[in-house]
Amino acid sequence: MRLTQQQQAEIETARAQHSATLRPSVAALEALLFQAIPVLDHGFVRVIDYMGDDAAIVQAARVSYGRGTRRVSEDAGLIRYLMRHRHSTPFEMCEIKYHVKLPIFVARQWIRHRTANVNEYSARYSILDREFYLPAAEHLAAQSSANRQGRGELLTGEEASHVLALLREDAARCYDHYAEMLNEDEAGDRRDPSRQGLARELARMNLTLNTYTQWYWKIDLYNLFHFLSLRADPHAQYEIRTYAEAILGTVAAWVPVAYRAFLDYALGAVTLSAQMVCVVRRMLAGEAVDQAGSGLNRREWAELMTALGGSES
Ligand SMILES: Cc1cc2nc3c(=O)[nH]c(=O)nc-3n(C[C@H](O)[C@H](O)[C@H](O)COP(=O)(O)OP(=O)(O)OC[C@H]3O[C@@H](n4cnc5c(N)ncnc54)[C@H](O)[C@@H]3O)c2cc1C
Repeated sequence: MRLTQQQQAEIETARAQHSATLRPSVAALEALLFQAIPVLDHGFVRVIDYMGDDAAIVQAARVSYGRGTRRVSEDAGLIRYLMRHRHSTPFEMCEIKYHVKLPIFVARQWIRHRTANVNEYSARYSILDREFYLPAAEHLAAQSSANRQGRGELLTGEEASHVLALLREDAARCYDHYAEMLNEDEAGDRRDPSRQGLARELARMNLTLNTYTQWYWKIDLYNLFHFLSLRADPHAQYEIRTYAEAILGTVAAWVPVAYRAFLDYALGAVTLSAQMVCVVRRMLAGEAVDQAGSGLNRREWAELMTALGGSES
């Protein structure tokens, strides 16, 4: 993550400004507000604003005139009940806004979450920075043979160096050609006065998918939990998962009770099909059940065994 001196100064100026408000605020999240949390090699997540806290979930659930809170244990119990029984609207009363800098291929996965409000940096209007994501050695893996959407063993030695060099050189060459086609310097003047320069909205098509883009992303807590349940999950691609993990840290600071309930009843929970429940009941009754006699296909059986922490045989 590289912030220019000017960007850092803007963050510091924003953090130095205080305003009195009757609205509830959360000290732990205020401490993070505006700060860039580094993600990948040049990316970040910043909390820009938020509305509501754990008490706002309780307040909405009780449709209260005041803060609506009772004893801490009662409020936590209510939030946990709402999460366990998949109530949605009380969680929608809380909102949060992030500024995210992320590679374009990660943005393509992220933008599939339609329940957020997004405003992306315009590469029709502005010139993208010369920054590309290059995986760290511990993430440069081969295609998984077991999972078509996953990674297998790490690339090593000469193959790893060659792949990294190709990624770096291709991104740099495409960016240099982008800059050449634009024919603009930093002040917006023509570099070569004899050329008009290609429009930004066209030149950008030459950029590689590991080029960084940026957006403001605002979402309510219910839909944020949905996003995190999919993208902080081990099945999600590492690159988006690492953003989801950074966001998880901000949610823990913001709504600690709802966050704990989310870990317990959603992110760390396992869904069993009716057939799986039947298998578990048979096992609890002392029966030795194997895949062939379980009524589950091999994949479902493997998933159940993984969930139960047993062996797949
Ligand atoms: C591990 C993984 C692999 C994936 N692989 C692929 C893939 O190979 N190809 C691919 O195309 N996508 C893929 N996706 C994307 C996936 O199919 C979803 O598009 C993405 O996760 C967004 O989920 P969502 O629609 O539930 O979220 P959101 O858009 O945030 O929606 C949240 C919920 O709101 C409701 N909702 C929102 N909009 C509508 C609507 N217009 N109509 C009805 N209900 C709506 C739905 O209940 C939805 O679950 C993958 C996602 C993951 C996590």
